[in-house]
Amino acid sequence: SVLGEHELALRERARQVIPGGMYGHMSVQAFSSAHPQFMASGDGCRVTDTDGRTYLDLMCGWGPVVLGHRHPGVTAAILDQLERGDCLDGTSPVAVEFAELLVDTIPSADWAMFCKNGSDATTTCVTIARAATGKRKLLVAHGAYHGAVPWCSLRGSGVTAEDQAHLVRYEYNDLASAEAAAAEAGDDLAAIVVCPMRHDIKRDQELVDPAFARGLRALADRTGAVLVLDDVRCGFRLDLGGSWEPLGVRPDLSAWSKAIANGQALGAVTGIEALRDAVRSVYVTGSFWTAAVPLAAGLATLTELRKGVALPDMARTGARLREGLAAQAAAHGFEIRQTGPVQMPMLSFAGDEDFRLVTAWAEAAVERGVYLHPWHNWFLSAAHTDADIDAILARTDEAFAAVQG
Ligand code: PMP
Repeated sequence: SVLGEHELALRERARQVIPGGMYGHMSVQAFSSAHPQFMASGDGCRVTDTDGRTYLDLMCGWGPVVLGHRHPGVTAAILDQLERGDCLDGTSPVAVEFAELLVDTIPSADWAMFCKNGSDATTTCVTIARAATGKRKLLVAHGAYHGAVPWCSLRGSGVTAEDQAHLVRYEYNDLASAEAAAAEAGDDLAAIVVCPMRHDIKRDQELVDPAFARGLRALADRTGAVLVLDDVRCGFRLDLGGSWEPLGVRPDLSAWSKAIANGQALGAVTGIEALRDAVRSVYVTGSFWTAAVPLAAGLATLTELRKGVALPDMARTGARLREGLAAQAAAHGFEIRQTGPVQMPMLSFAGDEDFRLVTAWAEAAVERGVYLHPWHNWFLSAAHTDADIDAILARTDEAFAAVQG
């Protein structure tokens, strides 16, 4: 086996006490026979497994790590808050400070509230939208992931039809289908939920058609529905003001998580003035939703991102990676597609319908020290330098050679 002895021993122990050995997106059995299930540490753009093997990281904790693992400024803020307490009897002042910074950074935000995960954030958006409108139906794109909770889960087991009785599906980037879904919802439409781009697993990414984004905004205005932008995956990597800010399309509510606190457990909902009373009317909370350490990490992360270096850096290194991979694939005689924004890379091979080739390539890459995924988008961080990208490319070139012929 290519897997190390510590990895294999941990897998065996995990099988006894964790069903399936692991669950959810972190379960490597779902996508690879070569990726380690367990990781021991991370530093900058590198992660190290339990057998001491270090990988150049192109997953960044599946998105949260936007400044790099153990970013010194964020770590200092975490330790400083930890010294004073994390889970206290009242909210830490850092919640107010971070809410102020979010409102100052995000043009569509007149207020902010905090939670733990992306699923909390999207679910809270839906609750607020229903409270505000008194309606029930939600427009959600086919195949779109908004979290692992019954109202939007993409997997059927344990989910009832009733859980999703008020979902009406539309096709991403197809305004006519969204309008038809709105017509089907009739006068019971609460919200239109949409991601900044189409980033469903196991398919090429698809940027939003600006006309579609503007059309959804107009549809929401016409019907009185709340426009919810699920910025959980794209947020704080593409544009600090929100991922549709460059298009000039502003949502009524936004769901945030992942990169918001550089890897600490935090989610947020931001929204417009008109929804402030609806927020006050609902009861949403959690034991750890206002824990102070992740909020301090969020404040430090956004403060760093606002210096204006990290996002342009990721755009530059992402372009370098994309160009390098394109040249390598061509040199090895492969036809590949690279889709979505360069900061969130996605690579597929033409004709590879069953993902066999891309899986073999991803396994060859991880064996050579580059951690990436065969059919979920990857993530760049600000810790990746041009030299790191070149080191990644040296290994991916070998991976292309390994799967040739
Ligand atoms: N929305 C989107 C677009 C996501 O990518 C994710 C997580 N992959 C979620 C919601 C759910 O976030 P979480 O896993 O933190 O609950």
